[in-house]
Amino acid sequence: MPYEVLARKWRPQQFEDVVGQDHVTRTLRNAIAQKRLANAYLFVGPRGTGKTSLARIFAKALNCATGPTEHPCGKCDACREIAAGNSLDVLEIDGASNNGVDQVRDLRDSVKYTPVNAPYKIYIIDEVHMLSPAAFNALLKTLEEPPPHVKFFFATTEPQKILTTIISRCQRFDLRRIPSALLVERLELIARDEGVTVERDALLAIARGADGGMRDAESALDQLIAFCGAKIAEADVLVVFGLVGRQALDELAAAVFRGDVPETIRRVGELDKSGKDMTRLLVDLMELFRNVLIYAHAGENALEVLETQAESAKQLSAQIAPDRLLRMVDLLVQAEERMRYALSRRTMMEMTLIRCARMSQIVSLDELVRRVEALSAGVVEDAGASSDYAAAPAVPPAAVAEAPLPKRPAVAAPRPVSHTPAALPSERRGPPATAQAKAGAPASASPAPTASAPPPAKSSDAPAFPRERRTMQDWIREPAVHKTLEMFNGSIADVQG
Ligand SMILES: [Zn+2]
Repeated sequence: MPYEVLARKWRPQQFEDVVGQDHVTRTLRNAIAQKRLANAYLFVGPRGTGKTSLARIFAKALNCATGPTEHPCGKCDACREIAAGNSLDVLEIDGASNNGVDQVRDLRDSVKYTPVNAPYKIYIIDEVHMLSPAAFNALLKTLEEPPPHVKFFFATTEPQKILTTIISRCQRFDLRRIPSALLVERLELIARDEGVTVERDALLAIARGADGGMRDAESALDQLIAFCGAKIAEADVLVVFGLVGRQALDELAAAVFRGDVPETIRRVGELDKSGKDMTRLLVDLMELFRNVLIYAHAGENALEVLETQAESAKQLSAQIAPDRLLRMVDLLVQAEERMRYALSRRTMMEMTLIRCARMSQIVSLDELVRRVEALSAGVVEDAGASSDYAAAPAVPPAAVAEAPLPKRPAVAAPRPVSHTPAALPSERRGPPATAQAKAGAPASASPAPTASAPPPAKSSDAPAFPRERRTMQDWIREPAVHKTLEMFNGSIADVQG
């Protein structure tokens, strides 16, 4: 018997065998049980998630000699022919190569003939989005009112390319990417049956590389068995597919969370030298950061991952505040868009991770908000202190002073312009306050406009503020705040977000 690739050999034959798509299989089984069958079904999802397999199982369920049934027997002529793809009553059409209006007209003419030896005549059109608009339009009428013995099953990876008039005539099912835990479970079963020993981390690496597609995962396992024989280690998978090991990923993430820029750069350099794909590394890091974030916000049960991944997420989440991590994930998402146009992916990766590492060191937004609130409440604190601010009597913000300066009386009266620029921290870059600026400032002690948007932080030549008015601008010039704003490129929308 000729060798059969794993993906074909292990193609699901029953609804129960379809991995990770319970929401679809349950609906289809109920539809069969309740005899509520639609004219047309549309299966949408990424490659290798089971669209065509589901269509075939559904076809068997309808045409089986014991059917319509939720459990096609797999032994009758109809079941065997459909599984082999040579049934006269189940026509599998490749939308990519039969996309013209003439082919659809032929199909339309053949629809009126009754099935040969089964209750239904079923048209399975793969990659249906490849049909031309004229072909779709030729199909519309048939789709709306087909003869009672005709069913259409469509499969596509790109539903947005299908006319809405077609979609509205179908029952649509969205297949999801298969979580890595389920992929690993299935691969384990296959490996055991094939007599191959595979390390668990190796299975996880295959699942990561497959990106939620069962067929990709099975093909990868096939390739690895050919490469390694009966024993597969994680290192083999990493070499064959250019992936980064789980341990190395965890250590890189830990370095970023610590804000250890030299270590981060060293590790990226090492990975690049050993030929790892930087785009893939970015995707892996995004998944890892996402796991940590989900763990921090929703706990372990919300993660659909293996126990080793959950353990990583747990350990890493102790090292970083969730709001900082959220912004790091944001940076990674931005980098993903730019990566494909980047001339040097390594540089792009390094820049992104340096920004992430710096993100772990700056004052958090929560802390800044607390500080603003404290300032507007008139509390006086050491600028460097990050501790909570004590409640204080409500006084105008104008009365707030910094620790090195003598405290001013908290009164709502006009104050003299007494502070010289020399009293400002050295990081402040504004030129000395000019007489004009002083004259331009209102003399009244009305509350500072804390709600108004501050100007871009990068404008180093902004006019100096009068010291007695402790405004938003004043606050922005604080070294910690200034650094934070710089990281956001001066975009206030980012800071507020
Ligand atoms: Zn059967």
